[in-house]
Order: sequence, then C-alpha cells, then structure tokens
Amino acid sequence: MKLSFSPEDEQFREEVAGWLKANLVGEFEKLKYRGGPGDEHMFPAERQEWEKKLAEGGWTCVGWPREHGGRGCSIEQQVIFFEEYARAGAPGRVGHIGEGLAGPTLIAFGTEAQKQKYLPGILAGTELWCQGYSEPGAGSDLANVKTKARFDEGKGKWVINGQKVWTSLAHESDYCFVIARTDPDSVAHKGLGFFLVKMDQPGVDVRPIEQITGTSEFNEVFFDDAECDADDIVGAPGEGWKVAMGLLGFERGVSTLGQQMQFQNELDEVVRVAKANGAARDPAIRQRIAGMHAELKIMRYNSMRMLSGQSSGDGSLQKEALIYKLFWATWHRELGELAMDVMGPECEILEGGPYELSRLQSMYLFVRSDTIYGGTNQIQRNIIAERGLGMPKEPKGTAR
Ligand SMILES: Cc1cc2nc3c(=O)[nH]c(=O)nc-3n(C[C@H](O)[C@H](O)[C@H](O)COP(=O)(O)OP(=O)(O)OC[C@H]3O[C@@H](n4cnc5c(N)ncnc54)[C@H](O)[C@@H]3O)c2cc1C
Repeated sequence: MKLSFSPEDEQFREEVAGWLKANLVGEFEKLKYRGGPGDEHMFPAERQEWEKKLAEGGWTCVGWPREHGGRGCSIEQQVIFFEEYARAGAPGRVGHIGEGLAGPTLIAFGTEAQKQKYLPGILAGTELWCQGYSEPGAGSDLANVKTKARFDEGKGKWVINGQKVWTSLAHESDYCFVIARTDPDSVAHKGLGFFLVKMDQPGVDVRPIEQITGTSEFNEVFFDDAECDADDIVGAPGEGWKVAMGLLGFERGVSTLGQQMQFQNELDEVVRVAKANGAARDPAIRQRIAGMHAELKIMRYNSMRMLSGQSSGDGSLQKEALIYKLFWATWHRELGELAMDVMGPECEILEGGPYELSRLQSMYLFVRSDTIYGGTNQIQRNIIAERGLGMPKEPKGTAR
C-alpha cells in the first residue's frame, strides 16, 4: 500500500499549485469555493470561462490519454491534480460530466468519428454534457427505462420519445447521453441503445426541479420526437446496457481524493465556527468533531489503498472501492448534521431572504442527496454483500 508520493509527483504538485495560484485571480477570484455541491447554480457562465482557462493551460481531462488530447497523467498525478484543485478552492467544474463520464466512455466504446466529433469540445471546455439515465420508474432499477428510440428510415435519424428525471445540469448542457429502448418489445437490460443527443432542438424540453436548497441543479427532460443522427449511437442497437455500465465504472475514480480535500475544507469551516461560537467547549461536540476527523483520515488511507492496488484491468477500481461510496456519503451526511449542531439555534436563521443559505446550511441540505445519487446506500450495501462478500443475490421479482 502506497501512502506517499514520489519526488517527481511532488514536483508535479508544485506545478499544479503554482498554475492555480497564478490563474485563479482577477475575474476568477470570486469563483473560489463556489459552484460545488448545493451551489451549482452560481456563476455558470463565469465557471465555463474558467473551464476554458483550464483548457488553455492543459488542465482539463488530465487523465485522458495523450492520443485523445488529454495530459496522460498517471493515477498519482491525477490524484494530486484533484487534491490541489480542491485545496486552492478552485470552483466546481461545469464540465465534469463530459470529462469524467462522456469522454472516457467515447474513448472506450466510441467510433473514431464520434471521438473526433465530441472529444475536442469537452477538452476545450466549450461543450457541456448531462446524463440521461434515470426515469420516473427507473432509478436503482435502471434497466426498467421506458424511453424509446426508433430509427426513421425516411429521415435517416433516430427519433426519441420519453422522459428522464433528475438530470443534473441539463439546463446548461449542449449534449445528453441517453439510454433508450431500441427494441420496443424488449425487457430489462436487453434491447437498449446509448445515444448522444443534442439538447438544443425542438423535441427536447428541459424543466428545472426545485430542490430544498431553493436552487435547481437538476431537471426533468422530455423527449418528444427528439432527433439523433444515425451514427450518434454508441455501440450497436441493443448493446446500450454494456456501454451504460462501462460508463458507471468511470464514476468512481481518482477524483475521490480531491473530494476529500473539499470535505477537509468543510470540516475546517465547522471547526472554525465551533471555536468562534463556543460550541467547541461542549465535550459531546468535541468528540464528534474528533470522530469525523479520524474517519476522514481513514477515508484517505482507504483511497490510497484502492488507488495503489491493482485495478481490475478495465480501468475500474477493485473490491476495496465497493465500500467507498457508502462510507463517504454517510460521513458527509453526518458532517451536515454536526455542522447544524455546531451552529446551534442559528442554523435555523437565514442571513437574508429565503434561501440565502450560509455555506454550512447549504452543505447540510445538499448532503441529504449524497446517499441517493450514484447508487443509494441500500444499493451500495447490496453491492458489497453480493460482489464483495459473495453472498447470494437478492431475489428478483418475475421478469417483466
Ligand atoms: C443530486 C442528484 C443528482 C442526480 N443526477 C442525475 C443525473 O444527472 N442523471 C441521472 O440519470 N440521474 C441522476 N440522479 C438520479 C439518481 O441516479 C437516482 O436518484 C438514484 O439512482 C435512485 O433512484 P430513485 O431516485 O428512482 O429511487 P428508487 O430507486 O425508487 O429508490 C427508492 C428507495 O428504495 C430503495 N431501494 C430501491 N431498490 C432497492 C433494492 N433492490 N434493495 C433495497 N432498497 C432498494 C432505495 O435505496 C431508496 O431508498 C440524481 C440524483 C440526485 C439526488
């Protein structure tokens, strides 16, 4: 197990930190610590400018292979990049779905033409993506998607009809990758396709959903005869499930240590408030803060363990990674609760008008969703039981 970085990697760390220090200034100064979870609605245009600035410096898609325009960073370097990014307080990335999900999926499963058409916009920070998986009847049970895609011979295009829900950043996105049924009579994971759909067209209607934070990070997306070019299907019709699952393998990855740096920033803020308002003198609060601190260290060592172990060969992480989502999501939810207890009665007071939330209030509300997206806690426990511990699979109902 590797717990530290090589001198070359530490030099790379200095390079990243230096670039961020020199560039996160001027018009970008106000973006510091903004645009993260629960704050995604802030400064979308400015954050896209920042995305382009990162691209100019060669700091988008750092983990992509050089042949596809990336920086070709090793896993260690990627970890360092995300750590320094969070340490510098650099803003939440508007391009993360393209960089972390769409791009790697196209590199793994896309045709040469698809790579040439879509990768440059992601690299340059000029084209944003969203993920069209969940539907009202298909969340944990993703294979239950009902959205349909029919090939129209006359138009020479795919025509898509159906509804997606909880589509993060759909209102900002240029493209959506959509799972839809190419065989209308198919059930479960058979007969699906993986489509690259342009958002700016008459057949796509995006309706924001208001969250408890008062903001609208995600949306309902309606496809009503939306069109998609014949060659904008990734993989063959009917093979969409394989591509869709391949994409989910990219969801857990090296950004985990960067995420922990953001958690550290939040825990530091909780400690700062506790010292300032006297909550730190309460022995029960002190114990909880110490406990959160210890667990954050455990999270870091487990991440180092999973990143320094052998990957399973297809770029996805190994068995140790199975516990990670459950652990961090539950930890983060508890941090939100601790933050409110540290604030005391003040946690119920808003600084200004409705929804003018402080950083900790907004964090508390948003972290409720951490145990839902990317696989709920219950689903994570099923995965640990079945894939990690080899326990019998949970019984399924009869095939639909
Ligand atoms: C902030 C946020 C952003 C999101 N962004 C996107 C996005 O960009 N694109 C997208 O496609 N989706 C997105 N989602 C949707 C997310 O993937 C789903 O919410 C998630 O998969 C759960 O599905 P569901 O909401 O339909 O809940 P359900 O699957 O209906 O689950 C309801 C409850 O039943 C439990 N449950 C379900 N099945 C089982 C089982 N087999 N065993 C035990 N318990 C079970 C669940 O754990 C949960 O508690 C987002 C969600 C959130 C909260």
